[in-house]
Amino acid sequence: MSDCLFCKIAAKQIPAKLVHEDDELVAFRDIAPQAPTHILIIPRKHVPSLAELDDPALAGRMLLAAPHIAVAEGLHKTGWRTVFNTGSDGGQTVHHLHVHILGGRQMTWPPG
Ligand code: AMP
Repeated sequence: MSDCLFCKIAAKQIPAKLVHEDDELVAFRDIAPQAPTHILIIPRKHVPSLAELDDPALAGRMLLAAPHIAVAEGLHKTGWRTVFNTGSDGGQTVHHLHVHILGGRQMTWPPG
């Protein structure tokens, strides 16, 4: 989508601190980190949210990318949190599917 921020990041039209990219996924550091490590994994393909994700292979690749990136970031010993915010009550602010990876501090539950 031409006006989508994360599509522009995936296309390198807007700069981001990339930590991973392949044919289907891009991962980059969140611009307003909520933890010492805060990474977003997105599909290159525009999918508005988890509610519209209907591709099992893409879902699997996104999920499996999370531990791959977490290990690369050194989070495997202490753990990390993965979050999909969906829709307004879910706190989604960017309407291009993404999963947050947060680590490097103790997470609290329930989230705010
Ligand atoms: P969500 O609230 O789940 O939609 O998450 C969107 C995330 O995108 C937030 O954590 C923002 O800080 C992050 N974000 C917004 N703009 C950028 C950007 N240009 N580069 C990296 N992260 C961004």
